[in-house]
Amino acid sequence: MKTMSHHSPWDLLDERELRERQARKLRTYLGDVVLPFSARYRALFAEAGLSADSIRSLDDLRRIPFTSKKDLMPSPDHPQRAREFIIVPDPAVLKRRPSTLLKALFKGKQAVQDGFEREFRPIFLTSTTGRSADPVPFVYSQHDLNLLGDTGRRLFEVCGARRDLKLLNLFPYAPHLAFWQTHYGGAAFGVFVLSTGGGKFMGTDGNLRMIQKIKPDVLIGMPTFIYHVLQHAVETGMRIEGLQRVVLGGERVAEGLRRKLARMAHDLGSPNLDVVATYGFTEAKMAWGQCPCPVDETPSGYHLYPDLGIMEVVDPVTGDPLPPGSPGELVFTPLDSRGSVVLRYRTGDVIDGGLVHEPCPRCGRRVPRLVGNIRRKSDVRELQLDKIKGTLVDFNQLEHVLDDSEALGAWQLELRKRNDDPCEVDEVVLHVHPIGITDTQTLSRNLQNEFSAKTELHLNRIVFHDADEMRTLQGVGVQLKEQKVVDHRPKDVPSPAGKS
Ligand SMILES: [Zn+2]
Repeated sequence: MKTMSHHSPWDLLDERELRERQARKLRTYLGDVVLPFSARYRALFAEAGLSADSIRSLDDLRRIPFTSKKDLMPSPDHPQRAREFIIVPDPAVLKRRPSTLLKALFKGKQAVQDGFEREFRPIFLTSTTGRSADPVPFVYSQHDLNLLGDTGRRLFEVCGARRDLKLLNLFPYAPHLAFWQTHYGGAAFGVFVLSTGGGKFMGTDGNLRMIQKIKPDVLIGMPTFIYHVLQHAVETGMRIEGLQRVVLGGERVAEGLRRKLARMAHDLGSPNLDVVATYGFTEAKMAWGQCPCPVDETPSGYHLYPDLGIMEVVDPVTGDPLPPGSPGELVFTPLDSRGSVVLRYRTGDVIDGGLVHEPCPRCGRRVPRLVGNIRRKSDVRELQLDKIKGTLVDFNQLEHVLDDSEALGAWQLELRKRNDDPCEVDEVVLHVHPIGITDTQTLSRNLQNEFSAKTELHLNRIVFHDADEMRTLQGVGVQLKEQKVVDHRPKDVPSPAGKS
């Protein structure tokens, strides 16, 4: 077992002790911060007949109602809905805190006021990046920014960072968690991090020039973009030596992609690359990482920070909490956040290996881990594939098949109407860049067979492209996120099934 550091004394507790401590911290957090100062939760708790003291153990967590994305989305009657979730302190209540009285006594009123400012005043913001929905803003106080640095430092440690390494941050420069977690985490860890701003800011070429100049040990960024950068390097006959690790975040990481990245790094002159994934979301204001693992082995999961948040796994349909190791939907409750705060947030993400408490078989850390693949709970779309009825197609499943196919590089699924006629049926076109295979006829046949075996969908067409054309199709350097599924059906005309 390798040496490792512990983040907090909590990391050595067993499951029972940990759950007790989490329940205690949650009770204090609800009583001191959330219920007095969150308009939304004060009302919700009153409605449900709950108080902070209702939470005697973590089993009582289920009494707190869920919050989900739709509770945060602006609507015509509630254009500023996300604001109701911001912690707004009441000075009169704060003044009565015992800690305030002591501080005023020994350090003076100004110190008390400065402390409140740091704890509560919103000074920073990140937002969600929904495919179609309006972005939801999440604000941070200085207290939250300190936590963003702290969780970033822990994330770097779990992912195996060392202070003597050089890191290149390729996340898009935007008010998104991934970029800023990397920035603040690097500063807190004390390691060299250069942020290029990603493809939109510097283009694929600009990022490659930076790689040549800085010779980083680690690349951090979105899976699809890093794939394009390395692919472009391979194509242009570049050498990139000394690359040790790729850290991925911002979107789901397919197992097949880890192998493809390692193969490209090998061809570029970096034979021992490992690829680790991170998982995080705006509403948690933090991300978690996997510890390093060879690309041909299964990672040991995302290492959580149990003193800063509670992760539950619940039945995606009934919402009932599930026992350790069960697949289900991820639900998150923070334990120390200020600014925007959501309790029991339903992520809509499903993990297939569940939450486990055994020590990590790779690094030995005892923190709880999320094991297995994470995917969206539902990305089911209704397609009009024949004239008679709509067909429900799970795009999660299609994306898995494509990502894991060894013969495919970048790909894009395009939905369109036959002959661009709004009254016609829907067609699904697959655009791909094949890797190392020139016989496109055989590849087409194999792909169609794989698709009919694993999904129920027949592809209307498969169109082959070179890597450059794929970059253009996916909007690399133009879009913040590369486009892997595009819908070119006319939007103003409802499809015959009434859904688009
Ligand atoms: Zn580990």
